[in-house]
Amino acid sequence: MSQLSPYPSEVFDSWAEVYDTQPNPLLSLEQRILGSKLGDVHGLDILDAGCGTGRWLHQLADRGPRSLIGVDISPAMLLLAGTKLERTCDLRLGSCAALPVDDATTDMVLSSFVVSYLEDLDGFAQEVDRVARPGATVFLTDMHPDTEAQFNWKRGSHAGQIRGRRWSLAQITQAFQACGFKIVSLMEPSFSIEEKQIFEECGRLDLYESALAFPAIYVLRLRKPPSAPRVRKAACYAPGEIHLTGGRCAVGADASALASLSIDGRTIHSIESGSWKSTLDLSGFLLLPGLINAHDHLDFSLYPNIGDGPYQSAGEWAHDIHSNHAERIARYRQVPRSLHLWWGGIRNLLSGVTTVCHHNPLNQELLSPGFAVRVVPDFGWAHSPSLEPDLASKFRESPAGVPFVVHAAEGVDEKSSREIFDLDRIQALDDRTVLVHGLGCTAQGVSLINQRRASVILCPTSNEFLFHQSPSLGFIRSLDSVMLGSDSPLTAAGDLLDEIRFVHTQTGLDANSIYAMVTSRPAEFLRLRQGEGGIKPGSAADLVVIRDTGLSPAETMARLTNDQIELVMIGGRIQLAGEWLYERLPGGLRQGLQRFEVNGHPRWVRAPLDRLFAETEEFLGSDFCVGGKRVRRAPAA
Ligand SMILES: [Zn+2]
Repeated sequence: MSQLSPYPSEVFDSWAEVYDTQPNPLLSLEQRILGSKLGDVHGLDILDAGCGTGRWLHQLADRGPRSLIGVDISPAMLLLAGTKLERTCDLRLGSCAALPVDDATTDMVLSSFVVSYLEDLDGFAQEVDRVARPGATVFLTDMHPDTEAQFNWKRGSHAGQIRGRRWSLAQITQAFQACGFKIVSLMEPSFSIEEKQIFEECGRLDLYESALAFPAIYVLRLRKPPSAPRVRKAACYAPGEIHLTGGRCAVGADASALASLSIDGRTIHSIESGSWKSTLDLSGFLLLPGLINAHDHLDFSLYPNIGDGPYQSAGEWAHDIHSNHAERIARYRQVPRSLHLWWGGIRNLLSGVTTVCHHNPLNQELLSPGFAVRVVPDFGWAHSPSLEPDLASKFRESPAGVPFVVHAAEGVDEKSSREIFDLDRIQALDDRTVLVHGLGCTAQGVSLINQRRASVILCPTSNEFLFHQSPSLGFIRSLDSVMLGSDSPLTAAGDLLDEIRFVHTQTGLDANSIYAMVTSRPAEFLRLRQGEGGIKPGSAADLVVIRDTGLSPAETMARLTNDQIELVMIGGRIQLAGEWLYERLPGGLRQGLQRFEVNGHPRWVRAPLDRLFAETEEFLGSDFCVGGKRVRRAPAA
């Protein structure tokens, strides 16, 4: 049981203690029905996705499979499973949104009472498709969604009210059929005399009587066709074919064309002057490539600016805030990291960012297909030369072919400007090196950076807040490879669009240069591999849609504000919509979007907002900002 993106694993940890011991008529019914349907599993490689305490693994182990893997998001559940099982079972901590299982290695996938906890049903179906061999069997069971609605059944136990997502049977079968699975059987059994005793023991015979006429659970058996071609690799999640017609499409900083975009799965299939089919008419809109935010700290997303500059260096600022603002920091630090990360993803999404480079260790949640934005998966990093005593070996040990990101010259004193030369001396300055800030760089420092073919990420509003200075136009123009990042709201204005407008209006940098700094440049220097940063056939379908004002793509982007964004698509899936376009989206594309307000503007985003608001309010009350923008729950309809 239990796997699932929107719930922190702790919820299931607390449930684990009682899960096995509480009498549960649903489990009893499932046991009777599914137990007889599993058939002969001799010699099969079996995966229990969301295995919980190993209820099914335990039984399957006795039936002689070739291998048995149990995946669950809750360490406590796995621990319990481990105590029950022989060593023959391989227990893995992980999420159903990104199963820690190799491609095409499984003959049977079982997922018991898991589906309704999934935030991303399509993503789960595609993950199951990825790990399943041709001909594989899939069993899905859960509380019956219709009856659950009818009786308002609650999930979980007294240990925790676990909220479920009520996917309909049609949605569930469609998600798997979209991956090529065929339905073998669908059983919708009701309770019977065998469960009566459990109700009796709980003193709830009334419930038993009233539920008798309805299906209590479903057991869905699916089959992957024997010779199904493997279309996708790892964690993909796009809904299928989408045709965006009538819009003006950016093909470069100052080039655009009226075109129809056909999106197949996660990628742009073709760009043509006309199309027979239309999923969404974007006449009057401009399509920009999704923005790439080269530098952020997603885990500081809920913090406000803290500090009283000007400082000489980032080190001086850090010392000051920990000495003089400890209480304020403590208030935000009590918010669980996963909430900061989610709001960080949303903060980027709101500004049209489709790919972000997070400066800290990654976790599964950030890389899961259900996360708000795409997070750069492969890079080496260190905080900064002053905070990383062993930077040289960190650099040496980071894999070849991936960028190495490090804060450097973040200050205006001599020590900060020396850092570029320090990095060179320890041989950590080459074409993989991506320096964040570089504010304190001297002219010689810039020459050295260019000579070593290293690149620089600017975060100008953060510099302005800390040092009352930001990179000059001359400095920016002297760098061969330069990108733009938002940095965190602890020091910066809020999001990537704030940086773009700042560097355009305050620094005076031209729009075409800025366009490259958030599209093609970071795609190149962060070694992105899915065609991010451009709109072309074969590229990931990462798009930002705004009303067409007739300006060039770059001039439009240089003036863009959050509220002007009408649509954001990442990997072929709509992640954000403004009110106007949301109303015009076909139903299937709306699914999973939730509404809230950002500085008073309604936004629809694909994120577990109900949970995020409820959990964040526990720590910060209902009045909080994300990246300097006030967010509010949608008013009740
Ligand atoms: Zn930073």
